[in-house]
Amino acid sequence: MTLFTGPAADCRLCPRLVEYRRANQAAFPDWHNAPVDSFGSLDARILFIGLAPGVRGANRTGRPFTGDYAGDLLYSSLLKYGLARGEYRADPDDGFELVGARICNAVRCVPPENKPLPSEFKACLPFLSQELAAMPHLRALFAIGRNAHEVALTTLGLKKSAYPFAHGAMHELGKGLVMVDSYHCSRYNTNTGRLTETMFHQALETLLDSIKS
Ligand code: SF4
Repeated sequence: MTLFTGPAADCRLCPRLVEYRRANQAAFPDWHNAPVDSFGSLDARILFIGLAPGVRGANRTGRPFTGDYAGDLLYSSLLKYGLARGEYRADPDDGFELVGARICNAVRCVPPENKPLPSEFKACLPFLSQELAAMPHLRALFAIGRNAHEVALTTLGLKKSAYPFAHGAMHELGKGLVMVDSYHCSRYNTNTGRLTETMFHQALETLLDSIKS
């Protein structure tokens, strides 16, 4: 099994994101402003894959999906389905724990306007590849948004055309691994009605059903 440590705190592979980190460090010196480590054990059976840290969410707090609306919906849902325990208080020191789950981002540094460039997806991809290789009990991926879905397929060397993204879809990826898709749990998607809490919960139920046996 591979040892996974993630990117260095001063990873410089993406010049634009390094510059953005520097600008945020200058403006908000108390914020995390660095690559955001994944949350949860490498022994987990489920890996949730998001897009990238939100500037006032994970980039501020240093924990994926922590501190912005997307985390409110994700973490309340994980609690509902027994994939987390404790009280989520949007603070990395809140003692909140994941149960059998781990959360990462496809791009580990905050991108301007939440939009990584193709070159940035590519640069950060080896970290996801190493992370997958370091999870011996992994059974399922939960792709939070189309970008996460596509990055996961690229990482695994699978054709996007063979696994079209669709909210709630379950894909068998081979070697006992499945992937379930969801629209991103962003405030924008919930405000516009693209994703409701019920829809998000249904996708999680599909995920849990897929690894029952
Ligand atoms: Fe490094 Fe990933 Fe951050 Fe790019 S996004 S600088 S590859 S950690």
